[in-house]
Amino acid sequence: MTTATATAAATAVVPAAAAVAATATATATVDDPTSHRVLTGDRPTGPLHLGHYFGTLRNRVRLQDQGVEMFVVVADYQVITDRDLADRLAEHTENLVLDYLAAGLDPERATIFAHSAVPALHQLLLPFLSLVSVAELNRNPTVKDEIAHSSQSAVSGLMFTYPVHQAADILFCKADLVPVGQDQLPHLEVARTVARRFNERYPRTDGTAVFPRPQALLSDAPMLLGTDGGKMSKSRGNAVALGATADETARIIRGARTDADRRIGYDPAGRPEVSSLVLLAALCQDRAPEAVAEEIGDGGAAVLKRVVTESVNEHLRPLRARRAALAADRGHLRQVLRDGAERANAVADATLAEVREVMGAVI
Ligand code: ATP
Ligand code: MG
Repeated sequence: MTTATATAAATAVVPAAAAVAATATATATVDDPTSHRVLTGDRPTGPLHLGHYFGTLRNRVRLQDQGVEMFVVVADYQVITDRDLADRLAEHTENLVLDYLAAGLDPERATIFAHSAVPALHQLLLPFLSLVSVAELNRNPTVKDEIAHSSQSAVSGLMFTYPVHQAADILFCKADLVPVGQDQLPHLEVARTVARRFNERYPRTDGTAVFPRPQALLSDAPMLLGTDGGKMSKSRGNAVALGATADETARIIRGARTDADRRIGYDPAGRPEVSSLVLLAALCQDRAPEAVAEEIGDGGAAVLKRVVTESVNEHLRPLRARRAALAADRGHLRQVLRDGAERANAVADATLAEVREVMGAVI
């Protein structure tokens, strides 16, 4: 580990006490694992990519391995926020589980479940929607960006309300840590607002709060760029999938946008595309991006892309080998989801009962 990454990781320890700040950066360490619970997840819209891996997945595995209780939602109801139909839903869902297991999530320790299998979670959406204003929903910058990239002719109500749905995802299991990419920060603010307002409006009889205020955990790569220079995304055709072959990886990286300056440097604000590629190689090599850029020097885009390709293929080799071995047993992937749904349903039912009680439901 380089000095730069070592410093970042060492200074970003999450305190055991209730988290107060909205975000912690590059956190991979907690000082009291048993005092935290993690919820995070992904939409089953396509294969997971390098942005997921370095943006959130690696932090999930690290937190799990430290003993933090972990819930991972395959957000299948969220697929229809920006498209009319959930295409190849079963296949994408199983492949997400495959990517999780290949990356090191352990279904014995992590509860991996699909949204649609946990009805009580969605019932939380109703009281939660009453806690946010239409104006607040309207000014969410991530929702605006997703509307700009959506191919739908009309924007659905779900597009505006899904951040509140995500608050239900997080709060149903009373998670306090949410390892996510940067695009999720506005949604985390919604979840924090919902939790605060719910707790103020509906305190328990002893005055204590029902929900924690969740905190986002950002990694060293909170927004990895895709080959077109925009956010690497499953739905935008600009991603290197974790399960891609070495040759596919080489082809995709060869097509990545760079710039005309032969001198390779690390300047995320001034040269975002080149810097994102440098960062990718640095993350794979566990070195500082400045050192990787310095080494490439005047090699230009061709050398940069060769270094990135070799670094990615080398780093992902064990993950890809595990993925290939696990892919043969689709029944196991479905069983992981069934077991996860059973555990998640028990937690969601208990939270919903508590919510109904503090809200004054009669039965
Ligand atoms: P879609 O295009 O279908 O929305 P996506 O690639 O944006 O797919 P999501 O399922 O929406 O993936 O996001 C899952 C998680 O991965 C979120 O926490 C998100 O912040 C994180 N993430 C997604 N893309 C990146 C990226 N390029 N860099 C860092 N984190 C990312
Ligand atoms: Mg997304």
